[in-house]
Amino acid sequence: MALYVHVPFCVSICPYCDFVVYAGRSARGSGARIEPFLAALHAELDLRADALESPTRQPGPARPTLRTVYLGGGTPSLLTARDVAAILDHVARRFGIAAGAEVTLEANPGPDERGDLAGFAAAGVTRLSLGAQSLAPSELRRLGRRHAPDDVLSAISEARRAGMASVSVDLLYDVPGQTPASWRETLRRVLEAGVDHVSAYALTLDDPDAEGLTGPTGDHLPTRPGARAWREQARAEQDEDRAADLYAEADGLLTEAGLRWYELSNWARPGHESRHNLAYWHHDPYEAAGPGAHAFDGLGTRRWNAARLDGYVAALAATPARLPPGGVEHLDARTLAAEEAILGLRVREGIGRHVAERPAVAEALRWGRGHGLIEDDPGGRVALTLRGRLLSNELFARLLP
Ligand code: SF4
Repeated sequence: MALYVHVPFCVSICPYCDFVVYAGRSARGSGARIEPFLAALHAELDLRADALESPTRQPGPARPTLRTVYLGGGTPSLLTARDVAAILDHVARRFGIAAGAEVTLEANPGPDERGDLAGFAAAGVTRLSLGAQSLAPSELRRLGRRHAPDDVLSAISEARRAGMASVSVDLLYDVPGQTPASWRETLRRVLEAGVDHVSAYALTLDDPDAEGLTGPTGDHLPTRPGARAWREQARAEQDEDRAADLYAEADGLLTEAGLRWYELSNWARPGHESRHNLAYWHHDPYEAAGPGAHAFDGLGTRRWNAARLDGYVAALAATPARLPPGGVEHLDARTLAAEEAILGLRVREGIGRHVAERPAVAEALRWGRGHGLIEDDPGGRVALTLRGRLLSNELFARLLP
C-alpha cells in the first residue's frame, strides 16, 4: 500500500502546469488557505483510514502498513516542518508506516520555497524531489519559474546536509527555446551535483477544459486565459523530432553517469528508484488524500477527489465530516488488462508472459515487434526498445480497448 497526499499551494502558477494548485494570496500571508486545508486533510485521513478498516472491524491498522508516502503538489515544501511532522504522525497512527518506508516530499528550489529541509528530514522525509526543470536561465524565465539555476545546486547540497537519503530532480525537455547544448548543460550540472534520480519529462501542453476534466467533480482546475495563450504560443515552438533527440541524449548521458533508466521518464542510481511511483506502474493499490488526488484499490476501482478547494474544505469541515466530492470509476476486465500491459511496458523489466499472451495484448505486441518497438527476452518477458520508448504512445493506443 502506498499513500499520496496532495498539497495544492504554490507561490505562483507556471503557465504550463495542470496540477491542482492555488497560488498568490491562497498560499502566503494572512489570507492563506493552508490552515483550513490542513484541518480538512487531517479529517480526510481519518475518514479514509476508517473506510479501509471497516470491512474487518478490527481496531488499529487492519492492513499492510504503508511502504511509501508521497507528499506532492503544488509545493509541499511551503508547509512548515511542524505541519509535515503532524501529517506523517497522523498517517503513521492511522495507516501505519513500515520501517524503512520511502517518504518523499516535493520541493521547489528557490530559497523562499524550498522550506526547512532539515526539519522535513527530522519529521521523517527520506527523499526530496526537486522541481528544477532546467538550469538555463532563459528556459526558467520562459517557463515562468521563480528560481535561478544556482538555487537548484544549493538546494541539492542543503538536502544532502539535511540527511535526505535520496535526492531527485525533475527536468523538462522540448521547452521552447531549448537547444541540445542547453539540455546537455542542464544534465551535466545536475549530474555533477550528485543527484540520485532524474525524472525527465517532455513538456506536455494539454487542454483539461476540452478534455472535460474541469467540471464540479473534475480532478483539474480550469485553465486560466493567460496560460491558454502561453500554451498556444509554446506549442508552435515544440518539435517532436527534436524532443526525441533530446530524450536519446539524456538517456546516453544519464546511463554513462551510472543512472539506469527504469521507467520511460525516470533514471536512478541502483537502489534509488522511486518505490512510490513503481507502485503505480506495478498496478499496486494506493490510497490518496487532498484535492484532485487519485486512489486505486489494486483490483479495478479508481476514485478521485474533485480539484476545487472550497468543496473539499466544506465537506471535511462539516459536522460530522463528509468525504469530499469526487468521482469513481470501475474498470472492466478488458480495460484493466490493457492498463496492466501499458503500465508494465513503461518500466524496464516490461511484462511477463501471462500478460503478453492475452489475445488483445498479443496482437498489439505483434505490431510493435514488426516495427522494432519491443524485444523479447529468453524468459518470456517483453520490454520496450529505445525506439519503443520514443514511440510508446503508438503501441499503447493499440492496447486500449
Ligand atoms: S511550481 Fe510546480 S506545481 Fe507549482 S505551478 Fe509550477 S509546475 Fe505547477
